[in-house]
Amino acid sequence: MLSFQVLPQGTSIPLDHAHVGRTHSGQQRRAASGPRVTYTLVLGKEIKMQLEAVTGSCLCGSVKFEIKPPFSGFRYCHCRRCQKATGSSHASNVFVPQGQIAWLAGEALISRFDLPGAKRFSVWFCSRCGSRVPHKIRERDDYLVPAGLLDNDPVIRPENSIFWGSKAPWYVEPREIPKFTEYT
Ligand SMILES: [Zn+2]
Ligand SMILES: [Zn+2]
Repeated sequence: MLSFQVLPQGTSIPLDHAHVGRTHSGQQRRAASGPRVTYTLVLGKEIKMQLEAVTGSCLCGSVKFEIKPPFSGFRYCHCRRCQKATGSSHASNVFVPQGQIAWLAGEALISRFDLPGAKRFSVWFCSRCGSRVPHKIRERDDYLVPAGLLDNDPVIRPENSIFWGSKAPWYVEPREIPKFTEYT
């Protein structure tokens, strides 16, 4: 049976508690996990969900941060620098204005490498596990957030691939190759 609870407009609750159209199992869910969302009731009919914040962390979990929408963009970058820095075919970068990012833990562990001769290219990384972490883009007010660090769905999706001309010769579109849920 479906039941509704009327919340005051603007109420903020963790997304884990917000399965619209799903009955409760009776089990206690972990509080404060998942992204925070705000619900707005429009004309008593429509429920609008607005994402409040997305959290992220490095591989070892020492560095934690939070970013708040609206985000400035989301791009795959196939430049040679991003290939080197990620060890992969491309970087997946979310951009966020600097007033919308906050460090939650481990800021003192962050090391920084500014590529000599580059105008903007930098890598900030966790000195404990080596994961890239968000960095402020030099000469700009935006932060670059490696999307793989995000622990919740940022809702925004990549809008384009840049530096396509320098993509790795071995890169193939994911839809062209078989997929498995684990190691084969
Ligand atoms: Zn780490
Ligand atoms: Zn790049």
